[in-house]
Amino acid sequence: MLEYEHVSKRYTDGTVAVEDFTLQITKGEFVVLIGPSGCGKSTTLRMTNRLIEPTSGTIYLEGHDYRTIHPVVLRRRLGYVIQQIGLMPHLTIADNITFVLKLMGASKAERWRRAEQLLALANMDTSYLNKYPRELSGGQQQRVGVLRALAHDPELILMDEPFGALDPITRQQLQDELKRLQRAMHKTILFVTHDMDEALRLADRIVMMRDGRIVQVDSPERLLRTP
Ligand code: ADP
Ligand code: ADP
Repeated sequence: MLEYEHVSKRYTDGTVAVEDFTLQITKGEFVVLIGPSGCGKSTTLRMTNRLIEPTSGTIYLEGHDYRTIHPVVLRRRLGYVIQQIGLMPHLTIADNITFVLKLMGASKAERWRRAEQLLALANMDTSYLNKYPRELSGGQQQRVGVLRALAHDPELILMDEPFGALDPITRQQLQDELKRLQRAMHKTILFVTHDMDEALRLADRIVMMRDGRIVQVDSPERLLRTP
């Protein structure tokens, strides 16, 4: 579904953030990128989001070279969740969740139905739909951020330390929910973290990076067995 072929990124100041990144991700897979701060995780995610372009190498989405996919089309096929989730304070939860659908021209009724459906999937009460972000806890806001990324039913969801700012208990709750959601909706997820416990809990495959390079790719089960 997603393929990186010898992808490298050198920033204009000369920093080589990612070097010779080659990886294939299959549909429905949950892949976690892990490694110390500065090893190139966010750069990889930002290239996948096409916020930045690789210096060399190619990324393919279902066999199509990224460079040949129109940015609007690509954006529709991707969902993106970051730590600073940035819900829009003046919009209700329903409007926040379905913001992208509005841009795509969905009717109010359609958007409301979709928001209801997503809240149900996350076991959140529909009474939240008319609330504003400030009325929600940090954990609930982050949950809404995840739902917002799912609203337009993207094939691929990119997550950059989405639960990094949460307390350990809420964090674990959201990890479990995300895993359940991912299985139920059969989504492909590329998730960045520097927390090995989080990686082990979520991943089908863990990709370890260091100094811009992939150093190991393995399942959590095999990593746990490695001394
Ligand atoms: P991680 O997400 O693993 O912390 P990053 O991808 O953010 O790593 O960064 C990888 C390397 O690229 C680091 O050395 C970082 O300082 C550098 N870097 C990140 N963004 C830029 C930028 N816009 N310009 C120059 N160097 C950058
Ligand atoms: P805000 O105005 O609250 O910051 P954004 O425009 O950042 O909202 O995000 C709204 C939705 O668009 C999110 O659900 C996110 O998944 C999606 N999104 C934002 N940026 C991108 C991107 N570069 N590529 C794909 N989807 C994106």
